[in-house]
Amino acid sequence: MGTAVEFWLDLNEEQSDLRDWVHGFAEQVVRPAAAEWDEREETPWPILQEAAKIGLYGFEFLINTWSDNTGLSLPIANEELFWGDGGIGMAISGTSLAVAAIYGSGTPEQLVEWVPQCFGDADDPKVAAFCSTEPEAGSDVASMKTRAVYHEATDEWVLTGQKAYATNGGIANVHVVTASVDPALGSRGQAAFVVPPGTAGLAGTKKLKKLGLRASHTADVFLDDVRIPGSCLLGGKEALDERLDRARNAAPKNKNAAMRTFELSRPAVGAQALGIARAAYEYALEYAKNRVAFGRPIIENQAIAFALADMKTEIDAARLLVWRAAWMGRNDKPFTAGEGSMSKLKAGEVAVAVTEKAVQILGGAGYLREHPVERMFRDAKIYTIFEGTSEIQRLVISRAISGMQIR
Ligand SMILES: Cc1cc2nc3c(=O)[nH]c(=O)nc-3n(C[C@H](O)[C@H](O)[C@H](O)COP(=O)(O)OP(=O)(O)OC[C@H]3O[C@@H](n4cnc5c(N)ncnc54)[C@H](O)[C@@H]3O)c2cc1C
Repeated sequence: MGTAVEFWLDLNEEQSDLRDWVHGFAEQVVRPAAAEWDEREETPWPILQEAAKIGLYGFEFLINTWSDNTGLSLPIANEELFWGDGGIGMAISGTSLAVAAIYGSGTPEQLVEWVPQCFGDADDPKVAAFCSTEPEAGSDVASMKTRAVYHEATDEWVLTGQKAYATNGGIANVHVVTASVDPALGSRGQAAFVVPPGTAGLAGTKKLKKLGLRASHTADVFLDDVRIPGSCLLGGKEALDERLDRARNAAPKNKNAAMRTFELSRPAVGAQALGIARAAYEYALEYAKNRVAFGRPIIENQAIAFALADMKTEIDAARLLVWRAAWMGRNDKPFTAGEGSMSKLKAGEVAVAVTEKAVQILGGAGYLREHPVERMFRDAKIYTIFEGTSEIQRLVISRAISGMQIR
């Protein structure tokens, strides 16, 4: 009873401080450098170093954002960082994919050993890569061909195969590589391994040329008889053997565990898309207020004003889905309707639509590199593709709501 407020959407003080702090970095350091690093198509090491210096790049930052029990801190930080720039944002956050895999599957000892090596330090920052996708196994993860074979005599794993499109692949200090240990079990026969710095047999191709996120390094990775100590299997051999036994003797149930891991990371990725979308919307809004055609600011035409109204509405709707999924993940709520996928699907599609509209609102100017909406338009497109394409998100949602094997 009583009038106590049980539900609210205000950020608490810590969250609004975090937002303002990341926004300051995005505005003062990231945004002014965005066009240059996009053109250079290189990893912006000096900016990574700046981020490390202020504590925005490192394990402590990630742990702090992950431990917020509302779940909102990481989406809030990502939205602001990617508001600054998608490519530099990904150069800074790419490492967290590998760290999340170590955190999610590793033992406490593995966490302590490898995570610091993923980030390096402010004097000598490093990056890490998470290598899962293969030339013939993208959406279809179960088709993974990279093999990991255990050699008991030497207590070593030997990895052989090829990985595709790995963020930071080849330039990373630490590579986390997924591989099949028992191909007959499909995705349930896969495991993740840490490949330590300088391990022989692992090589990245040269940086792939991309449409967007150009400051972020993407490369294919070859694994040619890569020998790593037994201790590099994330989670350890005993846990793997138990898991494989369960998979061999039971109906495919622990698919749900893998699915949940993806659902947990999706709102954070959706928030990146949201940051890019918001940046483009804000730029287009200002432009439309100032650009005069037919003797009046173009925003005085409903066609333009309503487009901006729709852009803002869609961005805010996407943010609510992102925050809901982040909150559900942190509070162990079951994703009964694929809410994690919904958040990434909506935010990715909104980012593509909003950045496209922003280019349109700027007219010819929008098509030129002089204005950032051109870059934002290119950067946004990846969000309907990686971390599960829009079609795969729809597959997850439709299976969750129907309980049927939708194909
Ligand atoms: C810039 C960039 C960075 C990346 N970073 C990483 C990384 O760090 N680590 C990593 O492991 N991977 C990474 N990836 C890979 C990315 O996750 C994959 O590209 C993505 O999962 C899609 O896989 P694919 O490219 O093989 O496409 P495919 O699986 O070949 O899909 C092609 C098309 O078919 C559709 N499709 C496939 N199956 C179905 C189906 N059942 N129903 C309906 N439609 C379907 C897809 O939606 C898509 O439109 C990155 C990719 C890029 C471009």
